[in-house]
Amino acid sequence: MWNWLKNIFDHQQRQLKRLKPIVAEINGWEAKIKALSNAKLKEKTAEFRSRLAQGEREELILPEAFAVVREAARRTLQMRHYDVQLMAGIVLHEGKIAEQKTGEGKTLSATLALYLNALTGQGAHLVTVNDYLARRDCEWMGPIFHLLGLTVGCLNHEQAYLFQPPAAKEKETINPAHLGRGDFLVPVTRQEAYRADITYGTNNEFGFDYLRDNMVYDLSEMVQTCPRGDYGVHHFAIVDEVDFLLIDQARTPLIISIPQEESNELYLKFARLVPQLLPEYYEIDEKRKTVHLTELGIAKIEKLLGVKNLYQNFALVHHLEQAIRAYKLFQRDRDYIVQDNQVIIVDEFTGRLMPGRRYAEGLHQAIEAKEGVPIQKESKTLATITFQNYFRLYQKLAGMTGTAITEAEEFQKIYNLEVVVIPTHRPVIRRDYADRIYKNQRAKYAAIIAEIKEKYQQQQPVLIGTTSVEKNELISKLLKRHHIPHQVLNAKNHQREAEIIARAGEKGAVTVATNLAGRGTDIKLGPGVKELGGLHVIGTERHEARRIDLQLRGRSGRQGDPGSSRFYVALDDDLMRIFGGEQIARLMERFNFPEDQPIEHPLISKQIAAAQKRVEGFNFDLRKHLVEYDDVINKQREIIYQLRRQILTNQGIEERIARFLEEKGAPLKTKYEEKMASFSPAERKALPRLIYLQTLDQLWMDHIDLLDELRRGVQLRGYAQRDPLVEFKNEAFQTFKTLMERLDQEAITRLLRIEVISAPTLDRPQITNLRAEQEKISYTIPSSETNGTAASSPTQPFRKSEKQKLGRNDPCWCGSGKKYKKCHGRG
Ligand code: ADP
Ligand code: MG
Repeated sequence: MWNWLKNIFDHQQRQLKRLKPIVAEINGWEAKIKALSNAKLKEKTAEFRSRLAQGEREELILPEAFAVVREAARRTLQMRHYDVQLMAGIVLHEGKIAEQKTGEGKTLSATLALYLNALTGQGAHLVTVNDYLARRDCEWMGPIFHLLGLTVGCLNHEQAYLFQPPAAKEKETINPAHLGRGDFLVPVTRQEAYRADITYGTNNEFGFDYLRDNMVYDLSEMVQTCPRGDYGVHHFAIVDEVDFLLIDQARTPLIISIPQEESNELYLKFARLVPQLLPEYYEIDEKRKTVHLTELGIAKIEKLLGVKNLYQNFALVHHLEQAIRAYKLFQRDRDYIVQDNQVIIVDEFTGRLMPGRRYAEGLHQAIEAKEGVPIQKESKTLATITFQNYFRLYQKLAGMTGTAITEAEEFQKIYNLEVVVIPTHRPVIRRDYADRIYKNQRAKYAAIIAEIKEKYQQQQPVLIGTTSVEKNELISKLLKRHHIPHQVLNAKNHQREAEIIARAGEKGAVTVATNLAGRGTDIKLGPGVKELGGLHVIGTERHEARRIDLQLRGRSGRQGDPGSSRFYVALDDDLMRIFGGEQIARLMERFNFPEDQPIEHPLISKQIAAAQKRVEGFNFDLRKHLVEYDDVINKQREIIYQLRRQILTNQGIEERIARFLEEKGAPLKTKYEEKMASFSPAERKALPRLIYLQTLDQLWMDHIDLLDELRRGVQLRGYAQRDPLVEFKNEAFQTFKTLMERLDQEAITRLLRIEVISAPTLDRPQITNLRAEQEKISYTIPSSETNGTAASSPTQPFRKSEKQKLGRNDPCWCGSGKKYKKCHGRG
């Protein structure tokens, strides 16, 4: 342990030593660059570009280029990059993670690497966690790039923009509170935003645009990959709050789906049934958020439903288990809320509402049935990718956050990203007090309120961090009872909440916020607050990872400000209850603590730390596990998308067809040629491409579902001493082979079947114009997001019967090569 810490420490020291001379070199350029006029400064961009074009290495240009950016920032924003920000800029340029504490100015640090990497003209992306921050950072940093002659784009969900300062305002200082309102943004097409030298946008927009680009039927519809003509290149991205995206959200794949027709009867039936079930009929695994039926339960349900063997009908079991989960594991106003007759997910990490997102695999419907709101249809996955795999597309990926080093191992192992800890500009003098531990929730909250009251009376500002909207509301209720004025932030309206939290450091301010609320917004201290001890942060429970505790503490004590923080813990907190283990439970019984006294016991502090470690380890394993499965899918997706791009650009179709016909022999060949002769020249060119695209898309979408089922299916085999992952890889490979073989077969058969052709009326699949189809399309996280372990759970292997998707004459899903009716579809 000690050795390991020492290694990290030594390594970090070496990094800093390495960076220092580069910083000195940048500083060496300062006087010379300062002497340049604005026009001359701008000319530097062209100069760098031509030097790069002549083969000069970026590293050689870096010191001068960074000095140019620093000077541009000084002139436009009156901010001169600190030396530590230069260090961060170098680290970002090197494709690593720069850990820079909250308030250290990551937004400004990023400009250095963005500028240098945009010079090649292949685009540099800055990824933010929400639309507001994309707008804010684009408008905030825009003037720097503008002065240097670079264009800056901004992607929001509804609209894309280009940065454009009104000529007169160019030199004025912009009120930071007004940034993000869009005053300096002009609406443009998404292509234009991507064509900009630098593009700010959220992870969701970048990811979904990528998926949509791989569903288009014409190159001109591509927004992300094509505009520059450098087809398929993902050049450089800096991910802000990189730990949030690559760790907290790592289990959240992006999914594009459309609704599917299915009966709601089962959901309703089971929603009525579940409340009648006795607890001994099923077992609940709170850690994994799964349920399964006991022998007793199975017998009872078979009787209730009048079926002989429940497990002969996977669909029934699946529906039933989802119904039980809906009742027993998913709580209204904690995991979701009901609004306007709809079930809306509350993000478990951030407490944020996720309208439009649905739990997958029927769980959402089961919850709708439970709540008695209209049940929405199941949906079919059209395309999906995890953030992890999206970001792996970039030739160079960098990240920044206040908290990365605790997860350095994961960043290294899974993403091949090194973490470099950047020193703070000024020393951190915040005081982090020891936890106060109480016996139960009531006592804990009473103590929290007492501390808030005390601080409020002294007019010292307090920020209270919670883990959910529900807990925000509880605190708010208690504060109201004590007549303490306060603000509540639920991460619902980022722009408005940013304005509120920016003032959380003023005298007497009391702010209650979920983890993500106001994230990215700097809390500056109001006048007279330093003397009161700065901002005091209260954590209402320890989080599942130390990293998130640190994030909350980090809201205070920025840029050398005074500040303090304290966490409150109750022995019946979720973390302690679920992961605390036997010891805590025994302690609670053994000692007869008075409720209102905080417990100070070394064993308990140790248990908390141990519980946190256990969760971190548990979650790391889940993510690693998911990655292993995801890798398989990812490779296949890459192959499919590459093939799709070839077809889209009319490459290789004729060869494929020729090769296929060659194998099939003469009669087919003749038939095909006759068919082609009946088409006009334009049709002959367009039709094969169109049909191939349609066929490929359809096969691929079914394949996605298949892999999903396979992934569940193989878990059962863990019992038979076989490694599920190996089994999965083998079968996934087999089914993929089948897919590739079927592609030509299917596409050519379809081509032969086309009778009357008039190109415009040809059925394009429902997904061709995604933007126009927005209504129907939903963007989903599957329930593995919440049960965390769809991939690893042996208790939930069953899904909708494959019969619904395969025709009797289709090749069987298991990859045996036999027809379905002769294989798994028999009987
Ligand atoms: P972070 O993202 O690291 O939490 P921000 O980018 O939001 O921090 O910046 C925090 C604050 O620091 C901002 O108000 C910004 O104006 C200020 N700041 C950052 N860098 C500088 C600098 N070099 N000079 C002056 N102020 C700076
Ligand atoms: Mg920030």
